[in-house]
Amino acid sequence: SPLTTDSKILIVGAGTWGCSTALHLGRRGYKHVTVLDPYPVPSPISAGTDLNKILELGSFAGDDADERYVSNKLLEAATEGWRNDPVFKPHFHETGCILAATSNEARRHMNTRDGPSEAGGWIPLRTKEDFQATMPKGVLTGEFPGWEGWWMQKGAGWVHARKSMESAAREAARLGVKFITGDQIGRVSSLIYDSTDIRGAITADGTYHYADRTILSAGASAAALFDMKDQLRPTAWTLAHIKMTPEEAKLYKNLPVLFNIERGFFMEPDEDNHELKMCDEHPGYCNWISDAAAPDAGQISSPFAKNQIPIESEARCREFLRETMPHLADRPFSFARICWCADTPNRAFLISKHPDYASLVLGVGGSGHGFCHIPAIGGFIVDAMEDKLDDKLKQSFRWRPETARGRDWKDLQGRFGPQGANRVMDFQDIKQWTNIGEDQE
Ligand code: FAD
Repeated sequence: SPLTTDSKILIVGAGTWGCSTALHLGRRGYKHVTVLDPYPVPSPISAGTDLNKILELGSFAGDDADERYVSNKLLEAATEGWRNDPVFKPHFHETGCILAATSNEARRHMNTRDGPSEAGGWIPLRTKEDFQATMPKGVLTGEFPGWEGWWMQKGAGWVHARKSMESAAREAARLGVKFITGDQIGRVSSLIYDSTDIRGAITADGTYHYADRTILSAGASAAALFDMKDQLRPTAWTLAHIKMTPEEAKLYKNLPVLFNIERGFFMEPDEDNHELKMCDEHPGYCNWISDAAAPDAGQISSPFAKNQIPIESEARCREFLRETMPHLADRPFSFARICWCADTPNRAFLISKHPDYASLVLGVGGSGHGFCHIPAIGGFIVDAMEDKLDDKLKQSFRWRPETARGRDWKDLQGRFGPQGANRVMDFQDIKQWTNIGEDQE
């Protein structure tokens, strides 16, 4: 049926991109929008349920001019939202950022033609004193062994992730979008197929939610709900929190993001609980298991939730701290979790109508850099539904199974890790996990 603002639109997944899509549909006047999720916003399994995320530091385009156009277009739209949209503006902290690398290979990657440069307004950091001088005395007490980097004082920074997602959902609900959440009533178990199209989704309680258009934005879980033809690789990263004292929180306020592309990153502690979040950096963990529904189809990477991280990841976090802030290196973690995202083969987003099912719209493939686009990404997803994407965006965001045929599941996809973790890892190999909150408190 032709699309009008009276059409019934169903969004599967109220995570980062689902909330953004709900908001943009509401703003464009769609009157019958329903969002399904097993959890109320913020879903504990959403990649966006997090203290903070970096506002994109680099382009993912490499040397390709069209991909550069797409990267810039996305980043301009996001930045516009962070600076001016009242829904998102309070959650943006333009504190600047530091990008760094250690090995020759990672340095080369950092210093590509489109990378940071003095002409682009970046300040080179060559010595430990250079690094230490980017923050107040007493913060960066480490030796920065082998580090080289760049500092941008404005124009980038971090965003409060959970609060921006909640803010988008609140405004969408105010505009009339209906959220149906709960383990049974919100969990989609299957899409509704007829001979030629998708007609909505069925939830775990058996309810059929019929719709004129169905938007799939279930993040790392999307591939379990629809055959993505290997275009998504569910991959997890690891994060930890360190509780800071009120004095430390004051000292650490408004710090730039510090990101070594093969060691890890941290941002300033949050205002509410004074917790400093950090991630160790690596090419990610998959969870390779046989698919019970299709035992002959080979293995799939299957997401699962866990508020612990592998002991080896904790060790890497502490190594990163030892290099940068050794005074924190042995402090117990107050929280940790694994966090799932889904990589496309080239880490470009997949935002498109499905070529065979005209009513199905895909908004997936966050590829590790999808959070900072929350102010605008839903607009692009609605543009795809309305056939309004310009040609270059359409080409980049397209359904592209040909790029995933025979996919190398171990491809690093432009990421780095320290020695021993410079590879895509498998949770099936992990024997030891942290036990935060279990015997430490
Ligand atoms: P999600 O936000 O994960 O949402 C998926 C939703 O689907 C969830 O709400 C879930 O509950 C729901 N769902 C699952 N199953 C079902 C079902 N059966 N039925 C209905 N709903 C379902 N990006 C940045 O821009 N900057 C960063 O610094 C950054 N750092 C990151 C650090 C980590 C550790 C990780 C893991 C990711 C990071 N990202 C970052 C990437 C970013 O978080 C993701 O790209 C983005 O959040 C993905 O959004 P999404 O909507 O696709 O998925």
